[in-house]
Amino acid sequence: MKQSQLFTKTQKNAPKDEMSLNARLLIRGGFVDKLMAGVYTILPLGWQVLKKIEQIIREEMNNIGGQEIFMPALQPKENWEKTGRWSTMDDLYKVKDKSDREFALGSTHEEIISPLMKKFINSYKDLPFAAYQFQNKFRMELRAKSGVLRGREFLMKDLYSFHLDQKDLDEYYEKAKIAYKNIFNRSGIGEKTFLTFASGGSFSKYSHEFQTLTSAGEDVIHICNKCNMAINKEIKDETPECPECKSTEFREEKAVEVGNIFKLGTKYSAPFDLTVTNEKGEKTPVVMGCYGVGLQRLMGTIVELNNDENGIIWPETVAPFKVHLISLGKNEEAEKIYNDLEKNNIEVLYDDREDTSAGAKFADADLIGIPYRVVVSEKSLAGGGVEMKKRNEKESEIIKIDQLFEEIKK
Ligand SMILES: [Zn+2]
Repeated sequence: MKQSQLFTKTQKNAPKDEMSLNARLLIRGGFVDKLMAGVYTILPLGWQVLKKIEQIIREEMNNIGGQEIFMPALQPKENWEKTGRWSTMDDLYKVKDKSDREFALGSTHEEIISPLMKKFINSYKDLPFAAYQFQNKFRMELRAKSGVLRGREFLMKDLYSFHLDQKDLDEYYEKAKIAYKNIFNRSGIGEKTFLTFASGGSFSKYSHEFQTLTSAGEDVIHICNKCNMAINKEIKDETPECPECKSTEFREEKAVEVGNIFKLGTKYSAPFDLTVTNEKGEKTPVVMGCYGVGLQRLMGTIVELNNDENGIIWPETVAPFKVHLISLGKNEEAEKIYNDLEKNNIEVLYDDREDTSAGAKFADADLIGIPYRVVVSEKSLAGGGVEMKKRNEKESEIIKIDQLFEEIKK
C-alpha cells in the first residue's frame, strides 16, 4: 500500500484524556481512533493487525476441531431470563424498542448457542464438537481507562465445546490449553504469559486464565516459584499453596488477562434442556466448556510489551506490514522495488510521499513499528543498494537490492 493514499495520519501527541500507553501509541500511529472511553474505531493499519491476530486464533481453533459460525449481538431477553443472568449480570447492556420489548446486547453467547444446538443434536453420536465465532461483545464498564485493554464494545473469539460427559470435556479442555498457549506464543507474548488458576463454578473447582505480565495490568497474580503456574488473587485468598505442586512460595506480579477457559458443565445446557440420548438410550444433559479471547485486548497487550520511546515494535507475525519502504527524493528505483515486493506477496507499506522530510518519514516509521525499514535514496544507491534496518535494531546496513529479498524471506 502507498502511504500517500492512506487516509490516516500519524500524530505527534495523543489526546490528553488518554492515559494508557497502549491506546496512546495506537492512536498516534493511526491504528485506532477513540470514539469514547472504552470504544475505539479500528483504522486501516489497526485492522491489518487485528486480522493477523484473528487468523492466528482461527487456525488454532480449527486445529482443535472448532467450526466457525457468527451469532447475533442483539438477543432476546427471554433467553437471559432462562439462565437467570438478566438480573444477575451487572455488566449486561439492556435495550428497549418502541414496543417496550427488551433485548440484551450480547456480552457472551451461552444463552444463544445452547438453544441453537438443541435444534441440531440429539444423540451421543453427535458429540463431541465445538463451534466458535468472532463477534462484537458489549460490556457495561463503568471505569474504562485502560485503553483498548478494557472495552465497552470489543471483538472477541468465543468457542463453546459440547460433550457427552465430564471426562470428554476434561480431555478437550487440555487440548484447548495447548491451543491457547500456541496463540500467545505466535502473537509474540508467550514468554510473559502465564497459565493461571482462577475460581471455577459449580461444576469445576478451577477455571484458567492466561495472564500476561505488564505494568499496565489491572490484575495481580501470584506465580509459583517452583512450577511457574500462577494463581489469581481470588484463589490466593482461599489457599496458601499452589494447586499444582503444593509449594507456598510465590512472586507477585501485575498482569492483564488475555484469555480464559472455563468448564461450564451443565450450567447452560440444563435451562435450555439441551440433552442427548446416551448409548443406553437415556436422556442426559450435554456437558459444555467455553473459551474466550478479546482481540483488541490482545493487540493492546502486544503493544504494552513491544515498544520504545519512539513507538511500537510489532512482532513480525502480527505486524500490519512486513516492510516499510521509504523513498527519499523522487526515484524510480523505489517504485520498482515496491512493485517487486508486491509481486512476491511481501506485504509492504510504501512511503512515497513527496512533500515529507526524511526526518518526518523516519519518525513515522518508528511510530508505526513495521519490522523492516528499507530506505531508498541517492545516497543508498550510490553505496550500492538500499539501507535496511530492523525496527528493534539501532544500526542500518547497505545491502544490494537482490539481497533484500533473501533477507526479508528469512
Ligand atoms: Zn506450583
